[in-house]
Amino acid sequence: MLSYLRNVGDYMDFYQDLWNKTRDKLSNSFAEQTFNEVFGEVKKVVKVENGVIYVLVPSTFIQTKINNVYTKMIAEILASLSNQKLKFKFICETEIKSTYKPLTTKIYKNNLKSNYTFESMVVGEANRLSYITAMKVAEQPGTFVNPLYIFGGVGLGKTHLMQAIGNYISDYNLEANILYVQATDYRSDFIKALQTQNFLEFTQKYENLDVLLIDDIQMLSDSSKSQEEFFKLFNDLSARGKQIVITSDCPAAKLTGIMPRLTSRFQMGISVDVHQPDLNQRVNILKRKLAETSELTVNDEILEYIAENFIDNVRELEGALNRVLMYCEFCNKELTLDLAKESLDILISSRKPKQKENYEDVLSVVASFYNITTVDLIGKSRNSNIVLPRHIAMYILKNHYNFTYVRIGQILNGRDHTTVMNGCLKIEEDLKTNVQLKLAVENILKKL
Ligand code: ADP
Ligand code: MG
Repeated sequence: MLSYLRNVGDYMDFYQDLWNKTRDKLSNSFAEQTFNEVFGEVKKVVKVENGVIYVLVPSTFIQTKINNVYTKMIAEILASLSNQKLKFKFICETEIKSTYKPLTTKIYKNNLKSNYTFESMVVGEANRLSYITAMKVAEQPGTFVNPLYIFGGVGLGKTHLMQAIGNYISDYNLEANILYVQATDYRSDFIKALQTQNFLEFTQKYENLDVLLIDDIQMLSDSSKSQEEFFKLFNDLSARGKQIVITSDCPAAKLTGIMPRLTSRFQMGISVDVHQPDLNQRVNILKRKLAETSELTVNDEILEYIAENFIDNVRELEGALNRVLMYCEFCNKELTLDLAKESLDILISSRKPKQKENYEDVLSVVASFYNITTVDLIGKSRNSNIVLPRHIAMYILKNHYNFTYVRIGQILNGRDHTTVMNGCLKIEEDLKTNVQLKLAVENILKKL
């Protein structure tokens, strides 16, 4: 229904409706008198800004009462009614005054999430190329490059980027017929049509598109009928110069279970990939999310702690931030680094030991501790001021990160696993007697 929303008035109605429904649910939860005392006069949505829906309250007394007693319940009801990040805030007449700004935020249009825009995406080395290419596609749909194929690991912003293209195009061309669909939904739409032999709905949905955004194409794997159908759709759209954007978890050439005619079509356009953001970009993403969703300020030390611990998936990174904020609210304590650590403890410790491929940190911390470079560290020099740190790196990778001797050998420039084993044993032995070495290793581990 939201795809029909075209102007500000419609959007306001939508939010008003959301509050009406929330209020109805509240009225079912309390005795009539209690409800009337608190919410009787709390009816009108006065403005909406950055996902915050402002509802007018008759007095500061009612405002305080709602804030202290009912916020959690209201938030739960709201979450059950809408899957967007919205929240209600209750304000008095005096607080509204000059701050009113006309509402410009969209909700869903063409089933795109309104907050998946280019503006809300933090750009860094990990996504610069894909971001710029996507912008060009959005500026020149159907002509710059077709199809655009975006691939990369889970939670790295593929869907966001793809929808940003859709949102951009729809902002500049209200009439454009844009469809975002997950490949699994495409597949079930088709199978449903096939089973019922009723193709009307299916055809209506997929014909006459100006832009097709199809997410996670690898999910069509092994479904040859839907691939055949998609092949036709793809050809039809591209022949008519309509933009197609595809995402996937791997390069087109590596897709398994997808027919070669399709994968070769996918390779006709441009492929771009998204990588894991580096620490700096992760901190910036957290800052952005915070600014979008909360009024709290969180100090950098805490954001860095989160960013250091949630590395390979932006969705999990955001989840960690939310968890810290909720925990803090729940405990009703000041947000300190210790509290943040406490709230994330279970997530972090429940993960596997750090044996994943995060050896680079170990190499760089050890190297910088001894004032040498990582190139020296993994290099060939047998100079004792390099051999010791090299052995320490081996020891840490083995004993604290669970790498195998063989893998450590590979990391250290193709050394033999017995060399690694000897290095590790040497440190283990020395640690028993050499206090200075013990302190050094402890210090390095602290830095990690
Ligand atoms: P994918 O489709 O690759 O699995 P998503 O697009 O669903 O990943 O992204 C997961 C979450 O991370 C989304 O909430 C998205 O907004 C956010 N996200 C990912 N990359 C960025 C980025 N560079 N800047 C801001 N948010 C990001
Ligand atoms: Mg996705």
